[in-house]
Amino acid sequence: MAKQEFKAESKRLLDMMINSIYTHKEIFLRELISNASDACDKRSYLALTDDSVGMSRQDFAISLSVDKVARTITVADNGIGMSQEDLENNLGVIAASGSYKFKQEVGADTKDTDVIGQFGVGFYSAFMIADHITVSSRKQGADNGYSWESDGAEGYSIEVCDKETVGTTITIHVKDDTEDEHYSDFLEDYKLQQLVRKYSDYIRFPIQMDVTKQERVDSDKEGAEPVYIPVTATETLNSMVPIWQRPKADVTDEEYNAFYQEKFHDYTAPARTLHVGVEGNITYKAMLFVPAQPAMDFYTTEFKKGLQLYSSGVMIMDSCGDLVGDHFRFVRGIVDSPDLSLNISRELLQHDRQLRVIANNLEKKIKSDLMKFMTDDRDTYNEFWKHFGRQLKYGITAEYGAKKDLLQDLLLFYSSTEEKFVSLGEYVSRMKEDQTSIYYATGESVGRIAKLPQIEGLQDDGVEILYLTEEVDEFVMQILREYNEKPFASALDANRGANGDDTQDDSAHQSTLDFVKEALGDAIASAKVSHTLKSHPVCLTAGEGLSFEMEKYFATMQP
Ligand code: ADP
Ligand code: MG
Repeated sequence: MAKQEFKAESKRLLDMMINSIYTHKEIFLRELISNASDACDKRSYLALTDDSVGMSRQDFAISLSVDKVARTITVADNGIGMSQEDLENNLGVIAASGSYKFKQEVGADTKDTDVIGQFGVGFYSAFMIADHITVSSRKQGADNGYSWESDGAEGYSIEVCDKETVGTTITIHVKDDTEDEHYSDFLEDYKLQQLVRKYSDYIRFPIQMDVTKQERVDSDKEGAEPVYIPVTATETLNSMVPIWQRPKADVTDEEYNAFYQEKFHDYTAPARTLHVGVEGNITYKAMLFVPAQPAMDFYTTEFKKGLQLYSSGVMIMDSCGDLVGDHFRFVRGIVDSPDLSLNISRELLQHDRQLRVIANNLEKKIKSDLMKFMTDDRDTYNEFWKHFGRQLKYGITAEYGAKKDLLQDLLLFYSSTEEKFVSLGEYVSRMKEDQTSIYYATGESVGRIAKLPQIEGLQDDGVEILYLTEEVDEFVMQILREYNEKPFASALDANRGANGDDTQDDSAHQSTLDFVKEALGDAIASAKVSHTLKSHPVCLTAGEGLSFEMEKYFATMQP
């Protein structure tokens, strides 16, 4: 039986493409600019082998213009252009991508191009905001141009047109406003500038627009008011070369800081900057920052962790949560990779395997940078610890301690003997040979813990004790259990082997104990003789299992 080809209801298909693929209408500009950039890339690639092109990379540009009265936005490029056939094949066939074909032809890993297109649908996204589109184009080497026009799903027409220069000019007529949509916003200069900065800042050709500003002119006459006159100048809207694509040695600290502050809206310079370039299975560049201070909403549910995700310089996701674990959620930054499998809307990824590889890789890099931070710049690390230490502790207690090996070296606790914050590594390196455990004591504050009767013995012996003052600390100890094979032990535990001895006979004191229990009644569970106290006559201890601090913690969690 002869095989039949599938037919598509192309009108409906196009309608679906236009209205269901994208979540954000504003990406239409990203798509048109990406196409213009691809066209420039192709012509510049051709110029490498064909002298008749007579252009070099710096001759290419993309220009934007707006006509508010006519309600049009124009995106023009001096790229490769399209012939009549190209217009039919690429803009007349849904899901046909000349750019994808081009990539296949030149080979995916050539360093000479950075073509973005692949799905053959981006162009139609312009119909989300436009009711009429005109594309006039003249291909490299052709004698005249062609214009393609369409009102959307109904179809298109192509005819010969005058076009002086090689390249493509796309003019979209913006829809009238409706109750739900204020399409006119896209006709504002500032809006287009903003969209270019957001999605297309790292397109490698200049994106230019004539921008009119009011310039102040001071009058010669004394006392007269200054006048403002409109001055129009062509401005390049995008930064073109992203800071993370530049060699590390060429970027100054000031540039890193300025980039961070502008991109992540922070008043202060970051505490740490990490510039990572990885080539291999998955190639990517990343720039990560540890803020000097937490964002206002950091310890609230409002806070959204994540890194910005770019694919070949085009922004795909503003905040990709899968790239950083909760324990490092304070890290801000960007990841740019040409190897991502984008889904058709280019707002999401097909699958997250690549993200997982990148995330795991970055996690190791963050850890080793924080270790370096701790040893090289301890005062600032202490500040960092004040702000984000709690997050790292939460990280240890989460997922049944899955991240404890990663995070335990980064922890700091107040040390009784050093009288400052120390790491567990530092504590262990100071341990005397006969000391088997890492001692800790919990309480409300360092001052209060220092006065606890139970720890006087250890204090007098000069044993270092970690004073834990945060609610989460005891959970951290329970999850860690040990560090470098040294178990943690509570210094408050009255039955500590070294000084206390359970085998002693306390029956001689039974009448005193009965008296105490009778006097205090239900306020205590029982009265026992302690063998650890030194100058204090009495102390309170928690029963089996929970410590006081844990009991308090649970009490606050009751509804
Ligand atoms: P994609 O960019 O994923 O290929 P598009 O729908 O955005 O899909 O574009 C379809 C095709 O139309 C492109 O692959 C390219 O061949 C052609 N095209 C679109 N815009 C231009 C342009 N400005 N200059 C030259 N060719 C273009
Ligand atoms: Mg495209």
